[in-house]
Amino acid sequence: MAADTVVAEQETTGRRRPALSPSRAADFKQCPLLYRFRAVDRIPETPSRVQVRGTVVHSVLEQLFALPPEQREPDAAREMVAPAWHDVLAASPELAALFDGPADPELGTWLESARALVDAYFALEDPRRVQPEACELRLEVELPTAGMADPVLLRGYVDRLDVAPTGEIRVIDYKTGSAPREVFEAKALFQMKFYALVLLRTRGVLPRRLQLLYLADQQSLNYSPDEAELDRFERTLTAIWTAILRAAPTGDFRPSPGKLCEWCDHQERCPSFGGTPPPYPGWPEPDSAGDLERDAREQDAQ
Ligand code: SF4
Repeated sequence: MAADTVVAEQETTGRRRPALSPSRAADFKQCPLLYRFRAVDRIPETPSRVQVRGTVVHSVLEQLFALPPEQREPDAAREMVAPAWHDVLAASPELAALFDGPADPELGTWLESARALVDAYFALEDPRRVQPEACELRLEVELPTAGMADPVLLRGYVDRLDVAPTGEIRVIDYKTGSAPREVFEAKALFQMKFYALVLLRTRGVLPRRLQLLYLADQQSLNYSPDEAELDRFERTLTAIWTAILRAAPTGDFRPSPGKLCEWCDHQERCPSFGGTPPPYPGWPEPDSAGDLERDAREQDAQ
């Protein structure tokens, strides 16, 4: 199958309901209150130039694989950067505020830095030799949970899925930052294990390789999961969802301050920083879950 723009691994039927994505699960693990602000209150966060550049580069790499293999050249990819930025801007006009107008010289520098990341991708692999099954693939599965009315609904997007003629699966995720130090590798792999588990449960195939491509320093982090590990990981996700549902009726999502607070957009409303959270809006209605999904996609793009 050629690389599709967005392919649903499992189309949802009926009403959509809140799902657990890798980003939201990681948020809850880091700080339950941060999870609430993002997934329940849905308080908008201000995207940085770095984050938006990540979205643009992901878009370029997705479009690159829509070309016939012989046309997947660095120059073709570089030429996609400015149009990809314009597409992102058309979808989210408020991002124009990141720059001081189209003539802002910092815009030119920023676009060139996006081209440099696209160039870096070609140092990691030759896209002419890759024929993905899908790009921007939505993965979704329900995990049964003992003693709970609703199963856990897992939902995420993989940047690219390669399937060999032998049926072996490779999951690829692009990161526009640098490879994490060893201590942070587990966090980086959390997302990949999430995808591996969903693929194992939906296709009955254990992905052979999970690969994170870090463009900023041209590093690749490879990992081969085993089934027993994914079974344990499933129990971890179920425990996270159980804890979320326990807090959901009353909004008892507590702050858990740590080093990452430095990058949190919500300090002004966080009790750990002297703030007061807004009134709890209640657990999201099922049909409003689509916005959570988009939020999660944007978070995963970095
Ligand atoms: S500032 Fe820290 S403790 Fe407060 S919501 Fe953000 S991550 Fe949680």
